[in-house]
Amino acid sequence: MPIGFSGIKDIEGFPSDFFTKDNLDKKLAILKKAPVPPPKPRAMCYSYTPKRPEDTLTFSYICPICGTKTIHHVSQWSELFRLEEIRDQAQSVRDMGFEIYLEEKCFCSKCKIEVPEGPVWRITIDAHTFYVKFYSSKLDCDLLKKFLSARAKSDYDNLMDEIEGDTSRLEKLLGIKHD
Ligand SMILES: [Zn+2]
Repeated sequence: MPIGFSGIKDIEGFPSDFFTKDNLDKKLAILKKAPVPPPKPRAMCYSYTPKRPEDTLTFSYICPICGTKTIHHVSQWSELFRLEEIRDQAQSVRDMGFEIYLEEKCFCSKCKIEVPEGPVWRITIDAHTFYVKFYSSKLDCDLLKKFLSARAKSDYDNLMDEIEGDTSRLEKLLGIKHD
């Protein structure tokens, strides 16, 4: 498989460029024809632990754009402690031809006025940029990668089975549905 310019791989059947809205829409239409699995039984055992002040950690974010240092008081689960991992996950989706970035401006006290309150994904399809509220970088990136790489009917069927017939998250990531 040849490697296109700027590291974007050629994807069979598509030009060595980013996915267009047209071909993303076509893929989504194919996915929506896949059989929807019956609902799966699941154990309900959530426990909720309220946040205590002593669980709060301090993170200083240095903005790569303007250089401003912003002090954040956040929980240990904050995305700020996983920036490298999230950037790598987004990069692996961009390598497939889908432009997605963690919008880091929301972490900078100076730049955050330009963007929605974060964390959010910044996604561009056909030069149209939009933001999607961020929940799990791993789930979102895995979902996109499976969707973008789907070729055979079985790929779409397996993906539909995995998301249990619910395409709403994918449609948000494709800019079709909004929060
Ligand atoms: Zn900044």
